[in-house]
Amino acid sequence: VDGDPPLGRLIQALEECNVLPVKGHSVVYWMRMEDMRICDNRALAAASAMAIKEGIPLLVLFVLSPQDYVAHDRSPRRIDFTLRNLALIKASLSDIDIPLHVVTHKPRRDIPSFVISFLRSMKATRLFANMEYEVDELRRDIQVCELGKDEGISPMFIHDKLIIEPGVLTSKQGKPYAVYSPFQRLWLSTLNGDLDKYLAEASSPEPNPASVRQHPTFSGLFSTELPTAIDGFDCADRDQMATVWPAGTIAAREMLRRFLYTKSRSSHVGLSDPLEDGAVSSDKRSRALVYKEGRDKADRDTTSRLSPYLSAGVISARECVRATLILLGAKKVQATRDTSVGVWVQEIAWRDFYTHVMAAFPRVSMGRPFQEKYADVQWETNQAHFDAWKEGRTGVPIVDAAMRQANTMGWMHNRPRMIAAMYLTKDLMLDWRLGERYFMEQFIDGDLGSNNGGWQWSASTGTDPQPYFRIFNPYSQSEKADPTGDYIRAFVPELREVFGPDVHNPPAKLADKLGYPRPLVDHKEARERALRRYKNPGVQ
Ligand code: FAD
Repeated sequence: VDGDPPLGRLIQALEECNVLPVKGHSVVYWMRMEDMRICDNRALAAASAMAIKEGIPLLVLFVLSPQDYVAHDRSPRRIDFTLRNLALIKASLSDIDIPLHVVTHKPRRDIPSFVISFLRSMKATRLFANMEYEVDELRRDIQVCELGKDEGISPMFIHDKLIIEPGVLTSKQGKPYAVYSPFQRLWLSTLNGDLDKYLAEASSPEPNPASVRQHPTFSGLFSTELPTAIDGFDCADRDQMATVWPAGTIAAREMLRRFLYTKSRSSHVGLSDPLEDGAVSSDKRSRALVYKEGRDKADRDTTSRLSPYLSAGVISARECVRATLILLGAKKVQATRDTSVGVWVQEIAWRDFYTHVMAAFPRVSMGRPFQEKYADVQWETNQAHFDAWKEGRTGVPIVDAAMRQANTMGWMHNRPRMIAAMYLTKDLMLDWRLGERYFMEQFIDGDLGSNNGGWQWSASTGTDPQPYFRIFNPYSQSEKADPTGDYIRAFVPELREVFGPDVHNPPAKLADKLGYPRPLVDHKEARERALRRYKNPGVQ
């Protein structure tokens, strides 16, 4: 399946249609779901520079594609977040006389011809967009190149999502990395070797001449209405999401500032406004400076909560890394395990890594395990267990707290994500693809590469060099991730009055009294079953 990764084919297609087009009447920047910002946006900056050079206006197009959202299991929360961000972007662009034209286009197959016909109608010969690395999206863009070539339209797809784009970092044998540690070492030395290149801030777009508002071809674009919802993607908790995850780059920057410069709260991450000050911990250092010790504690509020913003590109990863240089007054990026900020930047490198893996080994995003030898692992088919996991009724408090956090917040702390994913795949022995899909359907930060990477890591089918016998004991994980028990008590009301070790593994009598379920499986037995099945894929 990986024979001819579509990223290479797109780059080739771009070279083939890189002819100088005749000067058009406008330049189009096609904004996508992963680059929802105006500042530090490379394709937008390049489109604006071209418009200025040619003395013609810049137009911005956004195509809402419900069929793609279904195909990618996008959550209503993520779609709603997209729409909330679009509303802010439209207003900001309008202030500088740039129209944002948002259309809903149903048949995903002909989005390329739709985009090309839009350019034709706007008499544009230049199209700019940031690269998306999922297989379907790459194929779509290859088609845009092919159609564009016939029409005298020159598309330009630019790397922007990651700090270092896929293809740059290869092993000594010229192969893409399949293990994180050597990838990360080369990532850091390559980055520090050319900070100006990898962290340079893209310039903001120049205003259009105000006359564009009266222009017969372009004026209508300013008045296109933004939908507030998309059929089939009703976000039932829209107001709550808007409080917990406010849209826009200003909110994202505030979230970054909160992480870098303010002290962590002593409580877990809940449903309150993250930007309101809560009870702060007694530690005088900011979240970023205690990240190393605090990041695995789900009962504290130490991580950045930037994942929805990074996934949707509301803030650039470059800006986040540049901010660490400012915080430390450093000239080189720190990304080693020695310091808290270094550990955090390593997480940004994980984000790069999983997208590199997806671009180099597209099979992972097509439902195939990274390690093909595990394709035949025998999974259970137990709908009742799957439902209990989804609803947070497994009888394992840390797993239930995690799943209920996902269901109410549209987000989960990283450590519970790992514990819940490991529990589904190793204790319940249910297919990792079910969990991967459920997370995408719930999360506001759903990112195909990171979600797939996280799931395959947990299921031991992925890039983790550790063998399959890495099986978390959910009870000891619970004691480490939630030492106070506050996280469990916050999301599992049945256990709200339970303190001490019982909160991690309530005795049967107590659980019955509180109406809390008994565990679905015995961990020791389940562990043995998982070891057996992984050792002999194909055997029950
Ligand atoms: P911080 O700890 O503050 O980290 C900063 C940023 O680094 C994050 O916002 C994120 O962009 C990146 N990052 C952190 N950890 C990882 C990681 N392990 N892999 C890739 N990038 C990382 N992250 C997503 O953004 N979207 C997903 O859909 C997603 N699905 C996951 C599924 C599973 C099963 C697992 C185990 C992890 C998944 N992650 C996903 C990674 C991680 O859990 C979240 O990025 C993190 O919890 C977000 O919280 P934060 O912004 O406070 O992170």
